[in-house]
Amino acid sequence: MSSTTLFSIIFVILIVQFIIETILNHLNAKKFSDPIPEELGDVFNEAEYLKSQAYKKTNYRFGLLSSSFSLVLTLGVLWFGGFDWVDKIAMGVSDNIILRALIFFGIIMFGSDLLTTPFSWYQIFVIEEKYGFNKTTAKIFLTDKIKGWIMMIVLGGGILALVIWFFEWAGSDFWLYAWGLIAVFTIFMNLFYSRLIVPIFNKQTPLEEGNLKTKIENYAQRVGFELRHIFVIDGSKRSTKANAYFSGFGREKRVTLFDTLINDLEDDEIVAVLAHEVGHYKRNHIVVNLVVSILLTGFTLFLLSIFINNPELSLAIRVTEPSFHAALIGFGILYSPISEITGLIMNYFSRKFEYQADDYAKNTFAAIPLITSLKKLSRNSLSNLTPHPAYVFVHYSHPPLISRIMNLKA
Ligand SMILES: [Zn+2]
Repeated sequence: MSSTTLFSIIFVILIVQFIIETILNHLNAKKFSDPIPEELGDVFNEAEYLKSQAYKKTNYRFGLLSSSFSLVLTLGVLWFGGFDWVDKIAMGVSDNIILRALIFFGIIMFGSDLLTTPFSWYQIFVIEEKYGFNKTTAKIFLTDKIKGWIMMIVLGGGILALVIWFFEWAGSDFWLYAWGLIAVFTIFMNLFYSRLIVPIFNKQTPLEEGNLKTKIENYAQRVGFELRHIFVIDGSKRSTKANAYFSGFGREKRVTLFDTLINDLEDDEIVAVLAHEVGHYKRNHIVVNLVVSILLTGFTLFLLSIFINNPELSLAIRVTEPSFHAALIGFGILYSPISEITGLIMNYFSRKFEYQADDYAKNTFAAIPLITSLKKLSRNSLSNLTPHPAYVFVHYSHPPLISRIMNLKA
């Protein structure tokens, strides 16, 4: 296929993705004012409900604005040969293929981050602030950014450099080595993320002795779940929204509770949330997700290895001198419809897993405290109680509140 055809296909992919996304958002927004299901009548009072309506509408309009900006920006960069311009700068700095790729991606990442920062700033300091969620200060925002960049340079840059080195050394077979590297990295991160990465951004302290800890330990013991690490994280540093998550496996498994969760929920409700997380572990969701994501990476890299030597991939994004890094971007856009589909499948299974984890919590603990906790969490984050089914199908990794409650009550 000629590079001009590929260039047109890339344009079509970006525009079609934008249109589908906009239609989904529009459908979802049309249901913002739907009557609330009877089961959820006690989630909001009148004032909170009006506030949640306004919050959803604001986010909808802002989302439309920022996605339009991204589209125009990407199309503009492609149309005016922006990637070639960046590539020429990188070439001017170094002849080394790895250094050139690092500079090329560095400029693109840094540039797009600078251009989108006003949007994330507005989201946090205007929208979240207005609805009372924001706790982030300008200082935290800035240090988060700098830490994020440093991590990106060290981890992202390191992996990219190694992958290109594999390519130089093994040719098309590079994908096997790259796959091995990324698989090891994924497993390592899954095990040690909480230990190594989270502390860069947050403070974690072991859950203090007391009623809550005793209740959690009693529950864990009863279901034969060895839980040595229960941590409380200072989520309140950035937002009033609450959360809990599970990470790692084997001896490294740990539960992390946001301090906001502990403030918002009763002890029984927290144990119910934890029982849900234990359910994910007991039903092997953690390992299944890990294996699937590694297999998907292998599939993507294998496809990449078939096309990477094709100069048309670089020319398709209007880079005049074909290279691994330019082809990577061309491939990334051409591959995105496939990753949309695998994303859909992953979300479908993720929602199934959520029901399974809810069932586990219901069977080993109780349904009522989980229902009341889900309602409280929805109220405190002003979440959407009436999402459009098509939007749920594409974007939701968790079933909508009403479906989870119906399942828990069944
Ligand atoms: Zn879950």
